[in-house]
This record gives sequence, C-alpha cells and structure tokens, in this order.
Amino acid sequence: RSFVIRAEMFGQLTSGLEAAWKVLTKENIAEPMRDIRRALLEADVSLPVVRRFVQSVSDKAAGVGLIRGVKPDQQLVKIVHDELVKLMGGEVSDLVFSKSGTTVILLAGLQGVGKTTVCAKLAFYLKKLGKSCMMIAADVYRPAAIDQLMILGDQVGVPVYKEGTEVKPSQIARNGLEEAIKRRIDVVIVDTAGRLQIDKAMMDELKQVKQATNPAEVLLVVDAMTGQEAAALVTTFNIEIGITGAILTKLDGDSRGGAALSVREVSGKPIKLVGRGERLEDLEPFYPDRMAGRILG
Ligand code: GDP
Repeated sequence: RSFVIRAEMFGQLTSGLEAAWKVLTKENIAEPMRDIRRALLEADVSLPVVRRFVQSVSDKAAGVGLIRGVKPDQQLVKIVHDELVKLMGGEVSDLVFSKSGTTVILLAGLQGVGKTTVCAKLAFYLKKLGKSCMMIAADVYRPAAIDQLMILGDQVGVPVYKEGTEVKPSQIARNGLEEAIKRRIDVVIVDTAGRLQIDKAMMDELKQVKQATNPAEVLLVVDAMTGQEAAALVTTFNIEIGITGAILTKLDGDSRGGAALSVREVSGKPIKLVGRGERLEDLEPFYPDRMAGRILG
C-alpha cells in the first residue's frame, strides 16, 4: 500500500523498467537507480553515503523476481524504501536510562542547532513520561544561554542548576549531578557549549564533562538543514567523544532530511528524537519509515 504511493511520487521512474521483465537485473535497474541516486542527492544526502547506498541496493535488487501485476518500478521503489528504513535503524530507538539512580543525558552540538531548546523540550518530554528532571547549564561562554535555560526551566517546571560562567563546565556538571542525586531526580540533562565550528577546545571540554558525569546517553544535536555536512560532523563527534545517538532538529523546515540518512550510516548510532518546531511539545521519536518517505520525496 505505502510503496504504491511512493512509486507515484517517483513518476519519472516508469521509463526505466518494462512490465515484460521477469527479474530485476543490474542492466534493467541502471536507469531507475540513477533517478534514485538523483533523489537522494536532492535530499542532500552526502555523496559517499549515496554511493554506498545505491551500490548496496543495486546488489540486493539484482536477481529479484518480479511479481506479476505489480509494476516493476514500484517493486524497485519498495526495495529502495525498505533499505532506507533499514539503514536508519528500522525501528524507533528508545532513550536509554540508567538501571538505578539518576540518568545523565549529555547534549552536544554546534552553536545554533537548537541544543538549548532541545534541552527544555527533552525535559518536557521526560516529564510527560513521569520522570523528574533537572537541567544543568554548562554552557559558560554565553551568559545568555544560561538565562535562556532558566526561562525555559520555568516554562517546563524543571529546576536548572547553574554556577555562572566562572566555573569549569565539567565541575558544574559534576556538582549539578551530585545535587540531582541528593534530590533523587530521575534524569539530568546537561546543556553544553557549542561553537560555530568544531574545534579542539570544545571537544576537550565535552570529553571532560562526559568523564565527570558518566552519561547513559551522549546525544549529538544536528540541524536537519545541515544536509550532507552532517556526515562529517557526526563522524568527528563520534570519534572524538563517542556519541550514543542523535537528535535531529528543525525538521519543520523545508529540508528533505538527507542528514538523517548520514547519521546512522557513518556512525552506526541511531537518531532517537526529532524536533519539529520551536514549541516545547515539538519533540517526538524518530520514525525511520516516515523519514524514508520524506527523503525519497
Ligand atoms: P543552541 O545554540 O544550539 O543552543 O540553539 P538554540 O536552542 O538557542 O536555538 C537556536 C534557534 O533555533 C532558536 O531560535 C530556536 O527557537 C530555533 N529552533 C530550535 N529548534 C527548532 C526546531 O525544531 N524548529 C525550528 N523551526 N526552530 C528551532
């Protein structure tokens, strides 16, 4: 049912495959696979990721027998769609919580991607799941970020731990966690500083915060508009600090979501949540099959 709709979106594919064929071969799918490649590039998936994906789908599709009565191009699109879903993890990937005591969720990401907003949205989301939360303001470079978190904390009804801008982020995080443990808080969310670009100081600081708090989740916040740049970004953060997953923000924008495909492909780590707007309630689980539809256009 769903792939028929997607096949219609792929109107141009019909030229490549003929109903008379009984089996998909490397030759007869070459042209439609070029269209699929173009669709992925238009969705701003990074080129190496597209190459590997197209290669693996071509390998899988070749030799597949065609079902009579179903258009061959629809069958190919279904294979592509299923592989996209698989590549993005297949199922919804839930947040991981510590088996006992206070769970730490560390948020990392470049400046402006929506990290502070995600911090509050996540607290709101977890509160709805019945978990008590505390946010830690460990972005000491922008006093405005601390103020912003305080305001958001008020809105969500969640305490914010801060020590101003003179204390080291790892120290703030450690002290904040201690406070949360004392207060028997279920989940602590640590907001860290972002930079406009990846630099060593930011990575070192994140490593120290991670070491100080032993987080159950290290989530990289990625702006969906980043598109193909996401591949390099995720690779670096994953190698440098070791992430457990990602949160994709600004999906309410007009991006086709190509970044989503890159995240899992380059890091092996799932996207756990997506942000779809500026309001607190605009955070939801990541559904790979919906994203596959969006990427295919
Ligand atoms: P940070 O520098 O990473 O902490 O980014 P902020 O949380 O301050 O967010 C930067 C801007 O992006 C703000 O204007 C937010 O309102 C906006 N923003 C964050 N998440 C989303 C989202 O999912 N959709 C949209 N449209 N805007 C968002």
